[in-house]
Amino acid sequence: MVNQRTVLIFGASGDLSSRLLLPGLGSLLAGPRATSVRIIGTGRSTLAADEWTARVRTAFGQDLSPAAAETLATTQYVAGDPTDPAHLRALLELAGPAPVLYFSLPPAVTTAIVETLQGIDLPAGTELAFEKPFGTDAASAAELNKLVGTLVPEENVHRVDHFLGRTAVLNLIGLRFANRLFEPVWNAEHIESVEIVYDETLGLEGRAQYYDNAGALVDMIQSHLLLVLALLAMDAPATMDAVEVRSEMARALRSTHLYGSPLEASRRARYAGYAGEAGVDPSRETETLAELTVEVDTNRWAGVPITLRSGKALGVARKEIVVKFKPLRHLPSGLHGGRDGETLRIGLNPGELSLSVPALGVDGPYTMGQVFLDATLPTSPVLPYGEVLNGILRGDPLLSVRGDVAERCWEIVEPVLDAWRTGEVPLEEYDAGSNGPTRWDNGAVAVTA
Ligand code: NDP
Repeated sequence: MVNQRTVLIFGASGDLSSRLLLPGLGSLLAGPRATSVRIIGTGRSTLAADEWTARVRTAFGQDLSPAAAETLATTQYVAGDPTDPAHLRALLELAGPAPVLYFSLPPAVTTAIVETLQGIDLPAGTELAFEKPFGTDAASAAELNKLVGTLVPEENVHRVDHFLGRTAVLNLIGLRFANRLFEPVWNAEHIESVEIVYDETLGLEGRAQYYDNAGALVDMIQSHLLLVLALLAMDAPATMDAVEVRSEMARALRSTHLYGSPLEASRRARYAGYAGEAGVDPSRETETLAELTVEVDTNRWAGVPITLRSGKALGVARKEIVVKFKPLRHLPSGLHGGRDGETLRIGLNPGELSLSVPALGVDGPYTMGQVFLDATLPTSPVLPYGEVLNGILRGDPLLSVRGDVAERCWEIVEPVLDAWRTGEVPLEEYDAGSNGPTRWDNGAVAVTA
């Protein structure tokens, strides 16, 4: 048997573990990059050994690679209260050297365990992996960062955001920094506006308890879409290592702020009927559609409105980055028609790429139109969670969110959350299956700043 690294999954009986984490690991183990791991699942639920193994087996899929088969052969489940110090010590003893502790738990339980771990020596090389949300605001994220920092060094902390494991998102790096067409024009001189959109047709999918507390802004924009923005807006890293890439992402986010007041730069709405859904507290006024316009206040980006939008129960599953280039200042006289510039669309799910460019149109010679250059990007067989786990297992935090970035993402949205709480920005309504409130016109926020 090869030397296996142990992953201790807290909250192993939960939704995330069986729906995303274990299938992600399975996809990683199916490929050439991974060696087998030893998974110990733990939680308060009592699960028979064969029941747990069956869950892992289901998540790994039909054809087991040798690494997946080895992983399956050594996996086990240990029941117990994760906040009990004696149970934690026993788990660590069982896990052996340099374990990965993966917290797939409600955030308050994770914090309680981190507090309990203060009194326990962790083995050298322990990696800690935290699910989102990391804290509930900037202050609590900073508090949790402080606690976690007493346990292991920052490079052993993995704040998981699986959007960073998506091929289409990672492809931004290659598309931008290895591309002569785009790199020289990726700035305010040439770009008019950017949209980062993740609209879903799906509704609550039985996760009302979680979603009703979070809402679209915290669920999607505060975490996933701001990280996509960081990759889109950052300057080129010197090398592709975690220190350089994460520093550039952090720099971009430190310069990011709302494009105007919360009233000018944000909109919120929820679909008609949401308040009556099972598990929803109507008094909470949770939004199911959120839109935020920000500016990255750097030489490269100042003045470019960047709109982040995400919602549920919408008519179209629009999941894309749209980069709209400015039209040229001057056209030769005698060229007629549209004066639109190029538009680059980068699909987030999965990787479709389309560039519309001005060209002579169908209305006769010397009349401008747009032509579309379409491509489908290769997608990796490794699922986003598998990609992020690959980094964690190797002790490489490149695809993990750094502590200051986790805090910064809260700081960016906090003025909006405050304004929404006080009702300064009205909660609008839209029909499920529509494109949002009719007066939004499905376009970018009208900004005045
Ligand atoms: P669950 O609510 O399903 O909780 C996971 C497990 O935590 C439960 O099965 C339960 O196991 C244990 N648990 C729950 N409450 C307590 C408690 N009070 N004390 C001790 N253990 C408790 O969460 P999910 O699996 O949905 O999510 C886990 C984490 O991942 C959360 O932080 C969530 O925000 C995040 N996340 C989830 C996503 C998803 O799609 N599910 C997507 C992205 C992030 P037991 O009863 O066996 O102890």
